[in-house]
Amino acid sequence: MFTPEALKEELTKPKHIVVTTHHKPDGDALGSSLAIYYWLQAKNHFVHVIVPSDFPTFLDWMPGRERVRIYTEDKAANDVLIDEADLIFCLDFNGLPRIHAMEDAVRNAKGIKIMIDHHLEPEGFDDYRHWDSQAAATAQLVYDFIVDVMVDHSSLTPEIATCLYTGLMTDTGSFRFQTTTPRVHEIAADLITLGAKNWEIHELVYNSYTENRMKFLGFCLLNRLEVLHEYRTALFSISRQDLNRFQITTGDTEGLVNYALAISGMKLAALIVDRTEQVKLSLRSIGDFPCNEICKRYFNGGGHRNAAGGNSNEPLPDVVNKFKSILSEYKTLLTHN
Ligand code: 5GP
Ligand code: MN
Repeated sequence: MFTPEALKEELTKPKHIVVTTHHKPDGDALGSSLAIYYWLQAKNHFVHVIVPSDFPTFLDWMPGRERVRIYTEDKAANDVLIDEADLIFCLDFNGLPRIHAMEDAVRNAKGIKIMIDHHLEPEGFDDYRHWDSQAAATAQLVYDFIVDVMVDHSSLTPEIATCLYTGLMTDTGSFRFQTTTPRVHEIAADLITLGAKNWEIHELVYNSYTENRMKFLGFCLLNRLEVLHEYRTALFSISRQDLNRFQITTGDTEGLVNYALAISGMKLAALIVDRTEQVKLSLRSIGDFPCNEICKRYFNGGGHRNAAGGNSNEPLPDVVNKFKSILSEYKTLLTHN
C-alpha cells in the first residue's frame, strides 16, 4: 500500500495517467472522474478518462465530457493507454467487475492503482485507497483527497467545483438523503464559492427531460407500477418494448425508482428493466432495510444499504417473480416500524 507521501512524490513529475469509473457512469462517477482529470491535467500530467460505456444525456453538458473516451469504441488504443499508464485512478467503484469489458485490462495493468470510493466491501485490487463507505458521494472523497490529503485547495478551479458539485448533488438526491451531513453542506458551500453554479447545474441535470422521457414517466406511473402493500414494497417492471416505444436512452430511467418509494408507507422500491444486454435491477429503501444484501445474494450486484443495483440473465417476468418471492423472507424487516 502507498502512503499519501509516496503518492505525492509520485505526482511531482509528469506521469501517464488513466482515470476510470464504473459502467454507465452516473453524475457522481463522471463528476469525480472529470474533477480528477482537471486537477491532474493542471499539474502537467498526461491524462485520459476512459469509461466502460456511454453516460446519460443529462450529463452531456459537463465540462470535459468531450474528452471522455468510451473503452469499447477504440479498444486497441485504450488498451495501450491502460497498459502504459503509470497510475490508474479508479473512481466510484471498488470491484473490477464494475468496469465490465475493461476489467482484464485494468487488472493486468502495471500502473499504480488508486481507488477513491464510497461503496462497501472493496475487492482489494488497489495500491492506494481513499475510501469511506459513510461518505455521501465519491465527489466528497475526491474533494477531501485534493484538499486534505494532497493539501491543494488552491488548485480547485470552477470546472473542478462544477464537476464535484454535480457528483455531490446527484448522489445525495439534491441534498436530501440521510447521507447529507453538515460536512456535505460545507463542501457544497465551498464549491459554490469556487464557481459551481448550483442553480444552473440543477437545471441542467433535472430539468432536461425530452418530451418522450416525460411521457414515459407518465406511462410507467400509470401502467407499470405495482404496489405490494403487505410488503410495503412498490416496483416498476419495464419491458424492452416499453423502452423502444418511448425511445429511451441511457439515463432516461434515472430517478424513476424514487417515485415508487415516494408512496406513503413504502420501505422498499424496485425498478426492473429489460435492457439489451441484461435485466437490470435498481433498489431503493428507507431506514434499515438492506437493498445491497438482496442485490448481492440474488442478483449478482451490490451497492449501499439504501441504494443498490444488480442484474440477471433470466427473462424479465422470471426476474420480477424472483424478486417478489424473495420478499416473504424479508417480511419482518419490511413491515416493522
Ligand atoms: P443504480 O440503481 O442507480 O444503478 O445504482 C445504485 C447503487 O448501486 C450505486 O451506488 C451503484 O454503484 C450500485 N450498483 C448498481 N448496479 C450495481 C451492480 O451491478 N453491482 C454492484 N456491485 N453495485 C451496483
Ligand atoms: Mn457514488
